Amino acid sequence: MLLNVQICGVKKQTRSNMTKITVAKGDGIGPEIMDATLEIILAAGAEIETEEIEVGEKVYLTGNTSGIAPESWEVIQRNKIFLKAPITTPQGGGYKSLNVTTRKFLGLYSNVRPCMSLHPFVNTKHPVMDIVIVRENEEDLYAGIEHQQTDEVVQCLKLISRPGCEKIVRYAFEYAKQQNRKKVTCFTKDNIMKQTDGLFHQVFNEIAKEYPEIKNEHWIVDIGAAKVAGSPEEFDVLVMPNLYGDIISDIAAEITGSVGLGGSANIGEECAMFEAIHGTAPDIGGKNIANPSGLLQGAIMMLNHIGQTKVAEKIQNAWLATLEQGTHTSDIYTAGKSKTKVGTREFAKAVIANL
Ligand code: NAD
Repeated sequence: MLLNVQICGVKKQTRSNMTKITVAKGDGIGPEIMDATLEIILAAGAEIETEEIEVGEKVYLTGNTSGIAPESWEVIQRNKIFLKAPITTPQGGGYKSLNVTTRKFLGLYSNVRPCMSLHPFVNTKHPVMDIVIVRENEEDLYAGIEHQQTDEVVQCLKLISRPGCEKIVRYAFEYAKQQNRKKVTCFTKDNIMKQTDGLFHQVFNEIAKEYPEIKNEHWIVDIGAAKVAGSPEEFDVLVMPNLYGDIISDIAAEITGSVGLGGSANIGEECAMFEAIHGTAPDIGGKNIANPSGLLQGAIMMLNHIGQTKVAEKIQNAWLATLEQGTHTSDIYTAGKSKTKVGTREFAKAVIANL
């Protein structure tokens, strides 16, 4: 259901420079972190107009099991840029994940998740961690092909295609080249899934040859995950199939200090969606204690994507200054290191004061 169309740009008279983006406030902590994020980016001078749609729980309650109305799909497709807060995916049968559907429907084949430690300002055991996870976003077990075989057996198909592997592996190497990164690591489980993960690994080896200036390596995903958790400084850019990327990026964000710090870009040929790595955090929803940094990082990636790089840089610097000053939400607050424990709204105000 399309709820309202808001003009949120700071200078309405220059509306021709404005980029219209679709915004969804989502569920749980979603509305709080979206309000904080929009307040910061608009105060920084982002030239955007927002068109808000409703997705998630409120839509499920109307009996719509997709979590989104057809008119809202039209808005997303028309604006092409989507800033989305986390949404609840009801567990069990009858509901498809709207996140997965959105990524597939819009052809958002690449999910880019940077995870960097903010030592010495945010407590972490991994002071020199700076990795970017490039997750394949449309295929693998997330293709959503599940069957009831018999009363006692269910099946889920793991779908991997050569074009899908080529697109995501090339994206990872191109990203590394553009960002002046030195190594791309591939994780698969091709010792067991010889055809599906085997194809992903084979395509990785083929495309790596086209980038001789960038180091490449492959790890079996289980030991790779252990290495990310124990010595993330060994990694730079990582590329992997969908499910592994989903899991490893939560681990990576968490060990930087909090899962609440990580942002995520979902990139396609025509459309792009930006969000936080984490979910709706129902345990802390509505309490003004969530860290809005993950969604803010997603919004900064969005501003870079639409060419508003100066505003993006200004916000990133103000955010870093706020963390350096020890103004921390409770997920990253550490006695002796942090100075002030703040709520979501107060954190946003502190970032704005540093713009
Ligand atoms: P979650 O990420 O919501 O929460 C995990 C833990 O991290 C919780 O203890 C939570 O309080 C904490 N946390 C998360 N974000 C935080 C923040 N910004 N600040 C402080 N603490 C934070 O994971 P979950 O509990 O497994 O999932 C809850 C719901 O979110 C589920 O319905 C799931 O389907 C959905 N989900 C949505 C998305 C998305 O919309 N992209 C992604 C993941 C999960």
